[in-house]
Amino acid sequence: MIILDGKKTANDIKEEIALEVTSIVSSGGKVPHLSAILVGTDGASETYVNAKVKACEKVGFKSTLIRLSEDVSQEDLLAEVEKINKNSDIDGLIVQLPLPSHVDEMKVTEAIDPEKDVDGFHPSNIGRMVLNLPTYLPATPAGILELLKRYNVETSGKHCVVIGRSHIVGSPMSILMGRNTNPGNCTVTLTHSRTKNLQEITKTADILIVALGRVEFITSDMLKDGVCIIDVGITRVKSDKTKSGWKLLGDVDFENVKHMCSFITPVPGGVGPMTIAMLLKNTLLSSKK
Ligand code: NAP
Repeated sequence: MIILDGKKTANDIKEEIALEVTSIVSSGGKVPHLSAILVGTDGASETYVNAKVKACEKVGFKSTLIRLSEDVSQEDLLAEVEKINKNSDIDGLIVQLPLPSHVDEMKVTEAIDPEKDVDGFHPSNIGRMVLNLPTYLPATPAGILELLKRYNVETSGKHCVVIGRSHIVGSPMSILMGRNTNPGNCTVTLTHSRTKNLQEITKTADILIVALGRVEFITSDMLKDGVCIIDVGITRVKSDKTKSGWKLLGDVDFENVKHMCSFITPVPGGVGPMTIAMLLKNTLLSSKK
């Protein structure tokens, strides 16, 4: 069993990016600049945004964090997005999700200039991804592909089962694993809450990508020997064993399934850090344009 170490791989990618930024800046180029909008004070969102801002500092990017109150109107939020769209110093814009229920998330996503959409959520970038055209791939699926690539996980001809069909993880992941690329060329089954006999399907998976957000949902009786598991789930649960009072758990019962796996990602330290690394990669790409 090989652990797909997202923390180490993400650090390698960040070092590569930092070197590139140094070389761009020393030859008189522009410092890449990522802007993030955070609405409200949700603890998990705060953690994610802070990690993104910290990662920017680490690789030598400029970052701007715009905090808006929980009751910000949709109009004011869209105006903020428009201001950033027009700011030529800013290369990438992310709006931390989820947004409060009175805001239409899709309207906000569509308002972001596709050229600055480094999260890769804009419908035109999703369309380009489906057509295999150059674009910003959604950061989490892109991070998973990078992890598979750097660990030389064979995907061609394999049966890949994806659990969860969200716009940001499951759906794009299923498309990317089926593309005629490496990693890719899988036969893909996309499953969701209406899927019947899920266990029968997961038992045939060579590669299982789990993104549903239910703690330790995947157990050993759902797997075949030799499976490669990518656990995307992150759920914060209370803990009296950590300083913060919280710990992160994945969608996979890691300790009890790892002996069956050829490869597996841990939580934390698997997909999460890769997501941030790919966000930085997309921002660098935008800056170079
Ligand atoms: P989401 O929008 O929360 O949707 C969950 C998906 O799981 C839905 O498609 C749902 O099906 C499906 N589902 C729910 N119960 C199921 C069941 N019993 N059997 C099969 N499918 C079931 O998904 P998400 O935003 O992708 O988030 C999923 C998890 O990944 C969360 O823990 C989130 O925190 C984590 N996440 C991690 C990262 C990272 O960087 N590591 C990034 C994004 C998300 P229906 O469509 O039928 O409702």
